Amino acid sequence: MFKWETEGSRFVMERLLEAGHEAVYVGGAVRDIALGLTPKDIDIATAATPEEIEALFRRTIDVGKEHGTIIVLVGEEQLEVTTYRSESTYSDYRRPDKVTFVRSLHEDLKRRDFTMNAMAINHEGRWIDPFNGLFHIEKRTIQAVGQADERFEEDALRIIRAVRFVSTLGFTIESETQRAMKKHASLLSHLAVERIKQEFDKMFRGDYLVQALRILYETGLHHYLPETKEEITLESFEYVEQPIEGWVLWAQCHQLASTELARAYKLSKKEREAIARYLTLLQEQEWTPWIVYCYSLDELLFVRRVNARCETESELRQMKERLPIQSKRDLAFDGRDVKQYYPNCRGKNIGQLLEEIERAVVLQKVSNDTEEIIEWVNEHVYERLCIK
Ligand code: ATP
Ligand code: MG
Repeated sequence: MFKWETEGSRFVMERLLEAGHEAVYVGGAVRDIALGLTPKDIDIATAATPEEIEALFRRTIDVGKEHGTIIVLVGEEQLEVTTYRSESTYSDYRRPDKVTFVRSLHEDLKRRDFTMNAMAINHEGRWIDPFNGLFHIEKRTIQAVGQADERFEEDALRIIRAVRFVSTLGFTIESETQRAMKKHASLLSHLAVERIKQEFDKMFRGDYLVQALRILYETGLHHYLPETKEEITLESFEYVEQPIEGWVLWAQCHQLASTELARAYKLSKKEREAIARYLTLLQEQEWTPWIVYCYSLDELLFVRRVNARCETESELRQMKERLPIQSKRDLAFDGRDVKQYYPNCRGKNIGQLLEEIERAVVLQKVSNDTEEIIEWVNEHVYERLCIK
């Protein structure tokens, strides 16, 4: 067993080989091994057809048999096993019209996007690298397999993938490949926005995001992405550590409200709401204890860096720790108390009352003590909210 192999991957590999099918490790995992990283998920490619794969394993999931992909479950592991295939005639710049299963690994590697992703390792640890992927990894370059122009015409997502890999790997793009990206930028408008969104999420996780965005703009790709502006400043993207933060800055620099961004890039409701919170915080001038209470430390620290605020990280941590309560749950007064002490407070007023108490406690206008809260309510809000 190689040190990067898992029980599951070894098992699947051996089983396929024993049954007489050629099988190799492929794709991102092989690239990661070449980079000295531990691969995230290990993909296997095989000459066996999807039916032959299914017949060999007890637990399988058909995730796209027509494309040749079967997931094999081994213990807790999920392994993607894909039949060698070639792809032909991409009439819509998106998906191959026809997938042809082939028996040759070389054919399969040829249809892959970049040389670094078009290598395989067999069960004995032998590298199969017909397009010099290892050499390009050594040179830290991203190079299309074969004719870059053709490859981007076949599937324009590869253009965005190149940018995404710049962000995650810090590689540069080989000049012919980059020229072809620029030339075919307009093909991005044919892509399903969901696929772009997926690549953006990965791009926002990369350590070299600013470098990637610079290429995105230099090659003019932004013209063909939803709702973009001609020029943006890239510096603050340096602080992005997770996708949501990337989307926040993407919204900010293109002057989009969270709803507009979410519509344009088909973000989820959860993402849209998270972005809205960040955008509001970015506008807050004075960080009162109430603001510090309402936002998580992650949110505060990110916005602090983007806006180059004067609070230090440890000051913010302290401000947060010193708050009388950390969340509603810590409040010494809840819905049941409202019912008990203020039976005339009904409907919307209940929520309003609790919110005012919460605020008063956070701002230390009253201490977090049931008796004192009652006294404070009687004096300050009773007449407004607790009398019918
Ligand atoms: P990650 O580490 O982010 O998963 P990856 O290279 O494994 O990166 P995947 O999207 O998981 O990316 O794809 C697996 C492999 O399939 C790639 O390494 C590449 O060989 C091939 N591939 C994926 N998308 C394309 C595409 N659009 N065109 C050609 N080949 C592709
Ligand atoms: Mg992968």
